[in-house]
Amino acid sequence: MKIAFIGLGNMGAPMALNLLKAAHALTVFDLNAHAVQSLTDAGARAATSLKAAATDAELVITMLPAAAHVKAVLTGEEGILAGIAKNVTIVDSSTIDPASVKAFAELAKENGNAFVDAPVSGGTGGAAAGTLTFMVGGSAQIYEQVKPVLASMGKNIVHCGDTSTGQVAKICNNLVLGITMAGVSEAMALGEALGIDPKVLGGIINTSTGRCWSSDTYNPFPGVIETAPSTRGYTGGFGTDLMLKDLGLATDAAKLARQPVYLGALAQQLYQTMSTNGAGKLDFSAVIKLYRKDGDA
Ligand code: NAD
Repeated sequence: MKIAFIGLGNMGAPMALNLLKAAHALTVFDLNAHAVQSLTDAGARAATSLKAAATDAELVITMLPAAAHVKAVLTGEEGILAGIAKNVTIVDSSTIDPASVKAFAELAKENGNAFVDAPVSGGTGGAAAGTLTFMVGGSAQIYEQVKPVLASMGKNIVHCGDTSTGQVAKICNNLVLGITMAGVSEAMALGEALGIDPKVLGGIINTSTGRCWSSDTYNPFPGVIETAPSTRGYTGGFGTDLMLKDLGLATDAAKLARQPVYLGALAQQLYQTMSTNGAGKLDFSAVIKLYRKDGDA
């Protein structure tokens, strides 16, 4: 298939490489020339503009930081919508708010195109290994159409429902994750202060009703889980600023839906404090530093 891929960052570049491996004809565009070079070295064609990238494409995939970037890429004289042929589908795998997805889907529809939200989980490791989970929002027909292509980059391709429900699934999952990480941090730091060995406490929680991914896979207390970012100085995981962004999407969406998110709002403030204190690039499990007496690992 002739695919245009826009946004070759930490996630987009390895995803695009997997499309090349699956023998798709790839045209790429990114503002970063180095990112483009790494893909052309691997066999992709570089486009001179977004509009040029979309011309001739049978499918367009975008993987961009936030909704403002997606809007910029779609609209404008040299944008995707200016170059894309009618009936060609646009798949956006960026994590953005559901309201923006609906607005972009309307714009695309006026242009004769379907716009599908397909955010991912699995991180950069999953992107490189081709094992991402895609949460797809759109009609059943479009889901069937894009599924084989997404399967070149992921292991689980899930149809969540109509337009924007992929983003709903993504931000609700990360709402749980942000809250559980803060909860496990609070309990591990309390246990430490009360004198129990953190490894013993972690072991008890992980075989008891407090067990969750934030405790048994990503425990924030250093040394409890050898493979967790906490054990390597909170590096190489899911960045605090990315968690902060996703909790912002959840609380913004909740405001529009007039739905309370008490714990999500509190968790958002915890990660905001970390980011303000300069810890935005650390793994989000470093939130435990807000609780521990020495404030350090
Ligand atoms: P990134 O910042 O590494 O990459 C974004 C890329 O988009 C950059 O290469 C940038 O140059 C390019 N870009 C920005 N504006 C552009 C424009 N107008 N035209 C062309 N290219 C443009 O981001 P990432 O880590 O790859 O994440 C992408 C999305 O995936 C985000 O929405 C993020 O929340 C989500 N996500 C990230 C992870 C992760 O672990 N990094 C996991 C799941 C989901």
